[in-house]
Amino acid sequence: MLDRSPFPLSRRLFLALAAAAATGPALAQGQPLRVVTTTGMIADTARRIGGADVAVTALFGAGVDPHSYRQTRSDIAAMTQADLVLWHSLNLEAQLERFLRDLARRKPVVAVGEAVPADRRLTDEDYKDRPDPHVWMNPDLWVFVAEAVRDALKRARPAAASRFDANTAVFLSEIGALQAYSRRVLGGVAPERRLLITAHDAFSYFAQAYGFEVMGIQGVSTESEAGLQRIRELVDVIVTRKVGAIFVESSVSDRNIRALIEGAAARGHAVSIGGELFSDAPGPDGAYEGSYVGMIDHNVTLIARALGGEAPATGMNGRLAAKG
Ligand SMILES: [Zn+2]
Repeated sequence: MLDRSPFPLSRRLFLALAAAAATGPALAQGQPLRVVTTTGMIADTARRIGGADVAVTALFGAGVDPHSYRQTRSDIAAMTQADLVLWHSLNLEAQLERFLRDLARRKPVVAVGEAVPADRRLTDEDYKDRPDPHVWMNPDLWVFVAEAVRDALKRARPAAASRFDANTAVFLSEIGALQAYSRRVLGGVAPERRLLITAHDAFSYFAQAYGFEVMGIQGVSTESEAGLQRIRELVDVIVTRKVGAIFVESSVSDRNIRALIEGAAARGHAVSIGGELFSDAPGPDGAYEGSYVGMIDHNVTLIARALGGEAPATGMNGRLAAKG
């Protein structure tokens, strides 16, 4: 290709960089704030609110189970070097908690899930003194988390506070639209079909928000093994209530779900897999499903459609990858 510019490349590059330095908010403030998060949901929220003022890294990628995750050597290096660490808490990152609480004595480490008020938290069925961590399943509760992320970013970089406020307003209005869409399409599922059977108990907040009953094969954490007794109970529910679809989760093995399908088939009832839900981690980086809004849109759309409700295959704003 012919270069018709009057300036050599290096000169143009210099001009471009100079222009960026004059106008770019992050460059004007120095380097972007280095933020490390545990979950992908928190990472997306920090990116949306932080914009160009932050560089966010998530420790847990798509399909990673946060309940059992143990930090690697490079995770420790990333957290130690970060300007700010954001984690969920509420018992989610069980293996990292000691390290994070210890690190919090030396640098800004914020447990953003703890912003959800105590009276809005559900408890773990197996451990009454512990909260159920899966608050992201109700967008109304994620608002508290988003505000905690905003406040943490403002404390870490006060000069960018007005930009963080503006970005938060846009993000929260999207969460409002997501909640309105979710209520509408899930409200269209017939009451007798509002039963969600999944691999582990990640959907209690979802159940509370939308009037569903949920049953997980494993409990609130994936750390305990599911017993044969639990499998038998659920096969019984599937057969007697003629459940049409049950769901696998991206971050949990589908072995137990397959045991349910086989158990029901042995008793003459065919139940299908309604699809793969993003329970504890969003979809792949860069995909719409890898964002918080995209993750919930995916789940809500899939559940509504699999249980006989009406929802567009591409979700609330036409951005979901169409499935089947
Ligand atoms: Zn979970």
